[in-house]
Amino acid sequence: WRDEEIAPRFIEVTQNETERMIRLVNDLLQLSKLDSKDYKLKKTRVHFIPYFHKVIDRFELTKKENVSFVRDFPDEKIFVHMDEDKITQVLDNIISNALKYSPQGGKITFRVKKKEDHIEVSVKDEGVGIPKSDLSKIFERFYRVDKARSRKLGGTGLGLAISKRLVELMNGKIGVESDFGKGSKFYFTLKFKTDSVKNFEKFDFSQKSIAIIENNKEIQNSLKLIFNYLKCKFFIFNNIKELFNSKNKNIDF
Ligand code: ATP
Ligand code: MG
Repeated sequence: WRDEEIAPRFIEVTQNETERMIRLVNDLLQLSKLDSKDYKLKKTRVHFIPYFHKVIDRFELTKKENVSFVRDFPDEKIFVHMDEDKITQVLDNIISNALKYSPQGGKITFRVKKKEDHIEVSVKDEGVGIPKSDLSKIFERFYRVDKARSRKLGGTGLGLAISKRLVELMNGKIGVESDFGKGSKFYFTLKFKTDSVKNFEKFDFSQKSIAIIENNKEIQNSLKLIFNYLKCKFFIFNNIKELFNSKNKNIDF
């Protein structure tokens, strides 16, 4: 330990390995939390394009100079319902993977495509690519295509497994397309309609009768319009007493 050449290198290796262990424990902890049924997301309405620009800008400042970024986004406002911190974690992993495996002078293309009820977000690199036989396993825990190379590039091999769980918790899909030796494209989808709106549309109101307690005449009139439009039977009361005194046999409690 007194050896002036070996001692500092030894400390550096120990420190790196300790940091890796800490990252591994944190990743495993997060995965086990994600597996529990009552995992709660903090979903908000996010203006997606400006949000995505901000995430990419952060990487633009630290990336190797010879790797270039291209952004291909639709020219319109898109709002999605998502947990912003968790999608940032997914993007951080996919973008840092793309950078890790990009060659000198490589181009990374960020794309957002608007589909019927969702958007598709993709990150495409011109890196080493992934062999066909590995494509289906890449989202499994600890799976790495080339153990030696991945280890040299750091990481725990859990990033994509966590990303998959997070995207699926938000009812999205995650996937990869790759040409071995030419590059990879990772993509995921996010619904831009909230689930409650979707359920509302699916709900057959004509089968229901609804009791409404509201004493404001203007609101009563608006509700009448809405429930008539939905072909729903409804009864409006000014207060709860009126409701209880009602002789109407059609109301179930
Ligand atoms: P971590 O994300 O935990 O830091 P990691 O990057 O090794 O570690 P994942 O993000 O889960 O782990 O990726 C798993 C493996 O998939 C990687 O080790 C690598 O073999 C392969 N991989 C991921 N992204 C790419 C890419 N853009 N190009 C080529 N191979 C990739
Ligand atoms: Mg990773």
